[in-house]
Amino acid sequence: MFKDWYELAEQQLNGGVLSREDAAAILAAPDSEVMDLVAAGSRLRREHFGNWVKVNYLVNLKSGLCPEDCHYCSQRLGSEADVLKYRWLPQEDALEQARAGIAGGAKRICMVASGRGPSAHDVEKVATMVDELKHDNPEVEVCACLGLLREGQAEKLKAAGVDAYNHNLNTSESRYGEICSTHTYADRVATVEQAKSAGLSPCSGVIVGMGESDDEVIDAIFALRTIESDSIPVNFLMPFDGTPLAGTKLLTPLKCLRILCLARFACPDREVRMAGGREMHLRSLQSTALQVVNSLFLGDYLTSEGQAANADLEMIADAGFRVLGSEESISEQPDVAVRRRGAGTEVAPNA
Ligand code: SF4
Repeated sequence: MFKDWYELAEQQLNGGVLSREDAAAILAAPDSEVMDLVAAGSRLRREHFGNWVKVNYLVNLKSGLCPEDCHYCSQRLGSEADVLKYRWLPQEDALEQARAGIAGGAKRICMVASGRGPSAHDVEKVATMVDELKHDNPEVEVCACLGLLREGQAEKLKAAGVDAYNHNLNTSESRYGEICSTHTYADRVATVEQAKSAGLSPCSGVIVGMGESDDEVIDAIFALRTIESDSIPVNFLMPFDGTPLAGTKLLTPLKCLRILCLARFACPDREVRMAGGREMHLRSLQSTALQVVNSLFLGDYLTSEGQAANADLEMIADAGFRVLGSEESISEQPDVAVRRRGAGTEVAPNA
């Protein structure tokens, strides 16, 4: 065997810290060994998360019209991508979407707004929504994803009942300038640190498939380990027409599995999510990925359609997993009437 993956899993179960050499070995695993790698990674997943899958649901509060220029994003400055553009969703519409996600089994509602960062008024609006949502659904977690935070905003969100804050590092520090010129990697790290200091659970992940090297993938995942991200969304680039990365297709399903295994071995006890682009890039191996990840987004993404929500729930049940927080079997769950958001293919903005 290229590497004894089960021995590596044992090392991680005993509190090991994944070395750069072992991380590189994971990304270089031969095709013939990827299923052994997944099986070894599944030991870590089951040790920390049993057979539960956490379902997250996105509510897109504000879409498009962003002044930033993130190359992967359909909502960037000057984007010609065919996506919905609107300023703030009325509160009732946002809450209705959130409730649909909860009815489908979502344990966490992710409230997302495009833009560089929220105004004081935006923070107030989110606070009011969260207050109302939590009044009826106190068990549901809320993650806000509003861009770069200014001083005091994280504390306000925390006081309003927000549980977590998403702000992805997206790629390695050395590569960040290649994918965005309007803010820096350091800006992103600072926002994650602000969220942490305010007591919000940090949700921060990556987008892969943008042309980064294996070394840069390792840098990005190790940086997430260093900032102690509680929740790590791994997005797979959906190359949006009308953006600089249009036509970029560099991933294979097995490569995606290796990257998810890297995240699991590097951060064994953290929520690892197969996020935007899983349908396009993991394809028929999405179910296999559940052996390593313990979280996904249900249904649609911010500006693109995902797999139908019921198909996600069936996939979870078929693979022998259960939706976290669900006491009933998947087959007893109501039909999930999740609203379709419109055309396009995109990963999460502010992601
Ligand atoms: S990722 Fe966020 S900040 Fe960047 S262009 Fe998209 S919406 Fe704007």
